[in-house]
Amino acid sequence: KAGLTRTKENIGRSFETLFSGEMTEDLYDELEEALILSDMGAERAMEAVEELRRRVKAEKIRDAGEGRACLRAILTELLQVGDPALKLDTRPSVALFIGVNGVGKTTTIGKLAAQLKGEGKRVMMAAADTFRAAAADQLEIWSERSGVDLVRQHEGADPAAVVFDALSAAKARNTDVILVDTAGRLHNKQNLMNELGKISRILERELPGADRETLLVLDATTGQNGLIQAKQFSDVAGITGIVLTKLDGSAKGGIVIAIAQELGVPVKFVGVGEGIDDLMPFDAERFVQAFV
Ligand code: GDP
Repeated sequence: KAGLTRTKENIGRSFETLFSGEMTEDLYDELEEALILSDMGAERAMEAVEELRRRVKAEKIRDAGEGRACLRAILTELLQVGDPALKLDTRPSVALFIGVNGVGKTTTIGKLAAQLKGEGKRVMMAAADTFRAAAADQLEIWSERSGVDLVRQHEGADPAAVVFDALSAAKARNTDVILVDTAGRLHNKQNLMNELGKISRILERELPGADRETLLVLDATTGQNGLIQAKQFSDVAGITGIVLTKLDGSAKGGIVIAIAQELGVPVKFVGVGEGIDDLMPFDAERFVQAFV
């Protein structure tokens, strides 16, 4: 897929060269370095290479091409920390999007709305980031672009009230999925916790037993900083999946492994551009092949 070209070109090429001969001692060091450069995290890179060494020995592998397949298997396993598919089967079901401003929440909601609509689902957006009027305006543009309904209120409105409104409208209109944009105010953890707690209570009261996803949106280009951010959010919200955006602008695919491992939550989608079609469901095996 075109979107991962940069990751593939920058990193894939270095692995291509590395894996062109036999499995030598030098190769392990170079692999470790390449993995660290990919933002996988030093310790994790070391462990993966250690595991590779162990498997190569156990399987008596000499050819580097086979070693490569072995490393791919190891990295793929690290990414398989849960089901990457969205579970939004009840009607209406709800997907909450959280993450700091600028990571690509609104864009992701727009892309996903178009995708779900394309699958024949009735989709609604709820602008529960009432902190900035611009956020709802931006979401409105995406709702028009993807041709789905939007529920919004005035700036400063109670986010939980927006969600309540959206639920009522969704029930009346037979909506399948509600995509909720929330404010990314991480600088005030207590505030965020209160806000998400209130939204949660509304959902439990109004839609008991409904499927719900809480998707943390992270910008791949922020590397290890994004990881710190991710941990802070996961402390506050029960995250069910990750959306990693801007992978088209990053050659550091290893960050995906770091995040999945650190949070123990599957990456469900990756963003590979600014266009409406630039959201890919995450496939660990394919991803690793583009990357190593
Ligand atoms: P929000 O503040 O989290 O809602 O972020 P936005 O959705 O407004 O996105 C911020 C910027 O990132 C916008 O310019 C988007 O076009 C851009 N963006 C979002 N996702 C991607 C992506 O996957 N790739 C690239 N290259 N840009 C993206």
